[in-house]
Amino acid sequence: METKSRILVIDDEIGIRKGCRRVLEPAGYTIDSAASFREGLNKIKQEQFDLILLDVMMPDGRGVDLLAPIHDQDPETVAVVITGYATVEMAVETIKRGAYDFIAKPFTTDLLLTTVQRGLEKRRLSMDAQRLQVLEKQAYEQALAKQQAEKLDKFKSSFATMVAHELRSPVAGVQSLVRTLLRGMAGELSDQQAEVLTRVETRLDFLLHLINDLLALAASKSLDEEKPLQPVPVQTVLQRVLEGFTEEARSKPVEIKQSLPAEPLVVRASEDGLDSILRNLVGNAIKYTPAGGNVRVECESDGEDAVLRVADTGIGISTEDLAHIGEEFFRAKNAHLQGFPGTGLGMSIVRQYVDRFDGQMNIASEEGKGSTFTIKLPLWRE
Ligand code: ADP
Repeated sequence: METKSRILVIDDEIGIRKGCRRVLEPAGYTIDSAASFREGLNKIKQEQFDLILLDVMMPDGRGVDLLAPIHDQDPETVAVVITGYATVEMAVETIKRGAYDFIAKPFTTDLLLTTVQRGLEKRRLSMDAQRLQVLEKQAYEQALAKQQAEKLDKFKSSFATMVAHELRSPVAGVQSLVRTLLRGMAGELSDQQAEVLTRVETRLDFLLHLINDLLALAASKSLDEEKPLQPVPVQTVLQRVLEGFTEEARSKPVEIKQSLPAEPLVVRASEDGLDSILRNLVGNAIKYTPAGGNVRVECESDGEDAVLRVADTGIGISTEDLAHIGEEFFRAKNAHLQGFPGTGLGMSIVRQYVDRFDGQMNIASEEGKGSTFTIKLPLWRE
């Protein structure tokens, strides 16, 4: 609801005060009045007005001396000076000191109304301009903060990539030397030496895993927004990923069941990204499912999206931890306590790619029973 504009008339002449009220009240304004400089000053200090009609000369003070207190209260309050013929010069001076306009006595109803309307319009415009300035400033500050956050994020990614790159070759080198030692190619090993070296090999495996995950995460983050997405055949990538896990599943053993539609599904993605999503989901399902369990991989189309589902009968995820899956380095308590190796990076890679491909991810899980990861990716359209 729009509130009425509030106008104060400060004039020692009762005729002017009454006249202003008679003209302005029917025009929809709320009018208050003061009969002297002192009374006017008190009202200015206690209340807020949109516009003040101000007699330039009053027995107890000059209207010009009220301009400073008026603008101290509210710089946007509009002051219009009322002046007699003899004091026009003073009215001009008051304008120099911040009054908006003046009207000389005797004045017509029309002149009073148009001057007041113009004054109030000026107030409305300068308040709009102020609001706009505040909004512009806020928008500028937000854009700046976003730019800085993006810069920092880019720096973190490129730093992680650089460190991971530099670490990968020496770690892989040490791993191959350890394997050479373990195979006895540099002389017989005692049982104790073999045991220690096997532990070293396990640690190195983990380290290489971490480095590779960091590199994959950096790659998923640095996906060029401008680079167009490609048509990627889901079944081809999925078959390749499943073949890569055949040996691991067989040796555990975990049975992999698959249900793929006959007609080829093609999504809007990048091949590396889809490969990474599926490798992480299938790899996790096998890893977190104890021997004897099974993993089910399905895909279908719902007309809009390809729906990929990886379900397992593994350790599951507690409701408390479920909300955090996909945060960098987050690992659920049970995975950690039961000694499953991992870095907590795979799911954040999955999340990055799913977002980039405008897809959705849903996880349904019950601790001790198993989990179902469902990914929807938009189908490729010509
Ligand atoms: P990690 O290298 O630890 O497996 P991920 O980022 O791939 O890291 O997964 C994050 C966490 O999500 C895991 O540590 C595990 O707690 C949980 N998780 C992922 N997939 C499964 C699954 N299929 N079953 C149970 N827990 C899972």
